[in-house]
Amino acid sequence: MNTVKVAIIGGGLSGLYTAYLLSQMNVEYQLFEARDRLGGRILSTPGPGPRHDLGPAWMWPDFQPRLAALVEELEIATFAQHTEGATLLERSPQQPPRRMVGWESGNTSMRIHSGVQQIIDALATKVPAEHILLNCRITKVTLRNSSAFLKASDEPSSLENVEFTHVISAMPLRLLAQSIEFDPPVAASRMTQWAETPTWMAPHAKYVALYPAPFWRAAGLSGTAQSHIGPMVEIHDACDPAGSAALFGFIGLPASARKTMDQGALLEACNQQMGRLFGTDATTPLAHYIKDWAWDELTAADGDRLATEAHHSGRTDTATKDIWSDVLLVSGTEASLEHNGYMEGALDAAQVVISRLH
Ligand SMILES: Cc1cc2nc3c(=O)[nH]c(=O)nc-3n(C[C@H](O)[C@H](O)[C@H](O)COP(=O)(O)OP(=O)(O)OC[C@H]3O[C@@H](n4cnc5c(N)ncnc54)[C@H](O)[C@@H]3O)c2cc1C
Repeated sequence: MNTVKVAIIGGGLSGLYTAYLLSQMNVEYQLFEARDRLGGRILSTPGPGPRHDLGPAWMWPDFQPRLAALVEELEIATFAQHTEGATLLERSPQQPPRRMVGWESGNTSMRIHSGVQQIIDALATKVPAEHILLNCRITKVTLRNSSAFLKASDEPSSLENVEFTHVISAMPLRLLAQSIEFDPPVAASRMTQWAETPTWMAPHAKYVALYPAPFWRAAGLSGTAQSHIGPMVEIHDACDPAGSAALFGFIGLPASARKTMDQGALLEACNQQMGRLFGTDATTPLAHYIKDWAWDELTAADGDRLATEAHHSGRTDTATKDIWSDVLLVSGTEASLEHNGYMEGALDAAQVVISRLH
């Protein structure tokens, strides 16, 4: 195992967890991340103070054992999503929002204190900094004499002479197909499978508003709302137990419509909707943010912006054997068999590719 030298492409949860596991196994590796930060789809609002999730917010420990174990190992505190109180339903512009008896799910959604980015920040402290290269976007992988060589868009050409025994891709499969050149090419059927695998949640955009107090709770509302008017279609309480009050919503407009809309106008439309639902206090947030994942070119590929695709099920990279099969291992949540799309899948896929290293 000690002759193995692994290149990890992507520093989201999957790539970073892979790095963490390889560190523990004393395997030589280098992680390349295109952004100036780790975490990929995991992103919380900027501090100071408790942070709120612009990407994933929920985990379900009962059937996500890897994530539950990692959170415990990293000594990160969790709490249950607030659902107590009435739910609001906005049916039409002609009718005021309807108040409905609160709805409880059988599986409690759990949240992370001060945002899911805590997982990334804690994991990053366990991985030696010299093994992580940020601002390094890989554009090409070449196979020569059973070794792989990487090319990056901004990296000095010295990288092109570094030899790796394995490459683990921990980026969304569709983005892998769209943005990395392989020399020689990977099998066409493999490339097609990647290109046809939707990137989970990539078509979506989230609005988060921070408030001085959770005034909706005092009014007997849970913070949960559904709307047929928009721009948000689903809203939830996003308060943090450390005392920071917030609401968040998923924006229902398609990615193409969001692209043509002025960001300030969209923020204002979300703000007004919060006001319609939760009253005038909701129109004066301390701060508010939109994160549009569909137009984040390091998350969404062109095909992800269509929003209509179903969640795919099943690992998509095992069927085809080609010249790359022993060298190129494909990870990231979209490659997970059971939990694809979720943070659990990012961990599962990392464990699976590591078991295939030899
Ligand atoms: C709005 C939203 C809500 C979600 N809600 C939940 C939830 O409640 N619960 C849940 O479990 N999951 C949820 N998810 C899904 C969850 O975020 C993902 O499962 C998980 O973060 C995926 O991690 P990953 O490492 O596989 O991929 P990513 O996080 O996408 O990481 C891939 C990394 O590769 C990098 N990269 C891309 N191209 C290159 C390149 N050429 N060179 C180098 N680096 C590159 C990217 O910058 C990125 O850092 C949500 C996602 C979103 C967007």
